[in-house]
Amino acid sequence: MAEKPESLALAGYHKVAALSGVGPLDLKALGSDRFHHVMGLYRREELTRAARRTLSAIRATIPGRVTGARFDRLFRPAGEWVVDLHDAALAWARSRASGVTWESTRPALAAAHWLDSKDSTVEGVPRALYGLTVLAATDSAAFSKVSSDLWRADSISAAAVQLLLAGYTQSQKWYADALQFLLSEPWVADGAQGRSPADYVRDDWRRMTGGAETVTPLPEIRARLFGYPQAVPRYGIPSALFQHLVVAHNHSARSWLTRHGEGRLLRVIRSLPPGDTSLVLLQAGSESIRLTTVPRQSRESLNGFLEPNDVIAIDPGYLPLLALGTVVHEWQHLHFRHKQLAAFARSLPAEPPALVELPGIEPHLAEGFAEWSSDRILAPLHARWPLLALGEMEKRAALARGSAADQHSVGYALVRALEVALGNPARTTQLLLQNAEHPARIATRPELRRAWRVHHGARDRVLTVPSRRILVPEVTFTVEDGFPDIISSRIVVPVSRKAPR
Ligand SMILES: [Zn+2]
Repeated sequence: MAEKPESLALAGYHKVAALSGVGPLDLKALGSDRFHHVMGLYRREELTRAARRTLSAIRATIPGRVTGARFDRLFRPAGEWVVDLHDAALAWARSRASGVTWESTRPALAAAHWLDSKDSTVEGVPRALYGLTVLAATDSAAFSKVSSDLWRADSISAAAVQLLLAGYTQSQKWYADALQFLLSEPWVADGAQGRSPADYVRDDWRRMTGGAETVTPLPEIRARLFGYPQAVPRYGIPSALFQHLVVAHNHSARSWLTRHGEGRLLRVIRSLPPGDTSLVLLQAGSESIRLTTVPRQSRESLNGFLEPNDVIAIDPGYLPLLALGTVVHEWQHLHFRHKQLAAFARSLPAEPPALVELPGIEPHLAEGFAEWSSDRILAPLHARWPLLALGEMEKRAALARGSAADQHSVGYALVRALEVALGNPARTTQLLLQNAEHPARIATRPELRRAWRVHHGARDRVLTVPSRRILVPEVTFTVEDGFPDIISSRIVVPVSRKAPR
C-alpha cells in the first residue's frame, strides 16, 4: 500500500473542510460528534451557514426556469432557506401556527427530562425533537410515556412539541424529494446546458464499460429513521437473472407474468409465509448454512433480498447537500451488483438449474469501489461546491481513525493503489467486477506483479470477513387475487465448498 489509509483520509478531509468554510472536527470529536455534525445537530450554526452559502451559489447558476422554480419550492419555499429536515419541520409547523419557535418547546422538553434545562445551544431543541421522532418510530410504548410527561408538565409547550413532531413526520417526504431533486434534476450548469448528478453517474458507467451500458433505472430514495446518518442500498434484481430464478410452469402463469410484470411477482413473493421464527441451520459437510425465505431475508437484511426495484434507504436527518455523495456511493453499490448479477445470469445455462448460487462481493472491494468511483464521478461538482464532499470525507476520516481494518478506508486505499498501477479507471472497474468475490486473485495478474514488484517479500496483511451462506428453498405456488398459494417446497442441498485461494 503506497499510502496509509488513515493519513490519506485525514488529509483529504481537512482540505475539503477548509474549502467549505467549516472547521474540521478534531480526532476526539470525529469519534464522538460526527453523526450529530452531519445531521446539523452539532455546530449547527456553522454548518447551516455553509449549506445556505452553497445552495445560494448553486441557485445562481441553475440553467432553466423550471429547474430553478423546483429548486426554490424545495429549498426556499417562502423566501427563507430550508437546508435540512430541522428547517423543514420548523417551516411546516410555522405554516400551521406562525408563532411557534424552537424556544416554545423548551419548558415541556426540559420538564420531561428530554432536554437538559441548562442546555441553551441552538441545536439542543432540534436534537431532542429528532430523538423523539426516532423514538416514536421505533418504540411506541416509550414514546407515549414521554408524551404524557410532556403534557403533564406544560400543556401549552407540549402542544408546540406536538406540532413540531408532526412537522418532522411531514418533512420526511420533503427530504426524499430534496434528495431525489439533487440526484436527478439538471441543476448543474455545464455550458448552456443543465445536467444532473445522475447524468454524471450514467456517463461514467458508459465510459467504464465501453459504451455498452444499459440504462440502469434511477433508484428510489426512501426516508427511513435509523437514528444516525446511515444509508443502505436495497438491491433489485436484473431481469436477466429473474428469468433464471422464476419459472412460469404453464400458460396461465406466463400470461399472468406478461400482464403484471416481474416487479409485481416479486411483491407477491413477499407475501409467502416467512417460515420459522427461530434459526434453522442446514449442515452440509463442514459448512452450516442458514435456511430462510425471500420475505424473511428481505425483511431481516438491511440490503433487502430480490427487491422489486432498487431503493436507497437513508436517514432523513442527514443534511441533503452532504447526503448527495452518500446517495451516489449507494447507487454505485447498486450499479456494481447489477453488472455482476447480469454477467452471472449470462453464464447460466438456458435451462434453469435446480439450484442457483448467487455470487457474493468481498466487502472491502465493494466499499473501496463505491468510495473510489463516487469520488471520481462527483469530482467536477466537488471542485465547484466543496461542501458536497464533506459528508463522505468526514466519514472516511472517522472510520480510518476508528479501526485500521475499516472496509471503507482500507478498501478505498486498495482500489486507488490498483488504479495507480493500472493507470486506467475502466480497466480497474473491469478487474474489480471480474474478481468481486475473490479479490486476492487480482494481485496475481502479471501486470500487477510487475507494478508491485518492490513489495514482493513483504508480509501479507490478511483481512478476514465472517460470512454465512443462506439457502432459500424452491417454492411452487399459484397466484389467486394477488396472493400466493403454496403447492410444494423443495430444499436442494448445495455441495459444500471451500473458498479458493
Ligand atoms: Zn458502502
